[in-house]
Amino acid sequence: MNILITGGSGFIGSHLTKFHLSKNDEVTVVDNYVTGSKKNLASEINNKNLKIIEADITNFDFSSLTTFDIIYDLASPASPQDFKNLSIEILKTNSVGLIDVLDFFIKSNSKTFVFSSTSEVYGDPLEHPQKESYFGNVNPVGLRSCYDEGKRFAEALMMSYFRRYDCDIRIARIFNTYGPFMKRDDGRVVSNFVNQAINNQPLTAYGNGTQTRSLCYVSDMIEGLYSLATTKNISGEIINIGNPVEKTIIEIADIIKKLTNSKSEISFKAIGADDPKKRCPDITKAKKLLSWEPKVDLETGLKKTIEYFKNI
Ligand code: UDP
Repeated sequence: MNILITGGSGFIGSHLTKFHLSKNDEVTVVDNYVTGSKKNLASEINNKNLKIIEADITNFDFSSLTTFDIIYDLASPASPQDFKNLSIEILKTNSVGLIDVLDFFIKSNSKTFVFSSTSEVYGDPLEHPQKESYFGNVNPVGLRSCYDEGKRFAEALMMSYFRRYDCDIRIARIFNTYGPFMKRDDGRVVSNFVNQAINNQPLTAYGNGTQTRSLCYVSDMIEGLYSLATTKNISGEIINIGNPVEKTIIEIADIIKKLTNSKSEISFKAIGADDPKKRCPDITKAKKLLSWEPKVDLETGLKKTIEYFKNI
């Protein structure tokens, strides 16, 4: 197959790129490295099936490209830390950028378009766990709104193209994902806690640490995205991809401390505005339509992540 991955040098994008290369697919990556890294695809740099284009999707002439079997749009900063520094870039990427990729998708007669949306569209959810039918509880003007509303606008765009052009689009609502090739200084809970624990620094829990997240190991995420892209007759579907095993932040800290044999204490820091108090995907739809569910349990995934961070 011929695959286009925007954001293909990012954390999830680089895993997806390697996954398709391992299937002997031809992969074109478009990435401007605003949050992705050249290092993430260094192992594949001599692979003849990989073409990397350094470009910003909000300012790129897609007409130079050919027709693709699958286009994955993963091009967006996604860490809460980026919401401060890259808010306008996030909004542009998920609006102007996505329009350009969608127009190219239609004009090039490419087959399937998969968009990476997020559990953030549910905001600070009042329904728990979150089903795809839940409309969310989002502050439209808060610090997280660039991402939450950017992705909500992007979903509206996807559905507008679907309705107007009757094209094959699919939307993944990606829940918290972790694993090797996360950015060390991204500010994410897993990368922060693992690096703090292996350096015997205090683990920084925000607020009182009772907020919850449900962590999906990256290989499960990749299989979920691939199933979403390749399952027949699910055009126009929006599907949660994540692991429904829910933990508090304190529980995550304790597991990481145990797995690293760390003597670090937990220190409590101020929590950011609108930080969701709980988050857990209802994956009934993914199980039913994609025959997919996560396989990697938290301890196994964290052990691999700890190994990765110890070795870089
Ligand atoms: N968090 C934390 N300490 C950290 C980093 C994050 O307690 O050093 C908390 C954060 O407040 C949030 C959760 O962990 O409740 C997940 O944060 P992350 O930035 O990984 O992703 P989010 O789910 O907020 O997008």
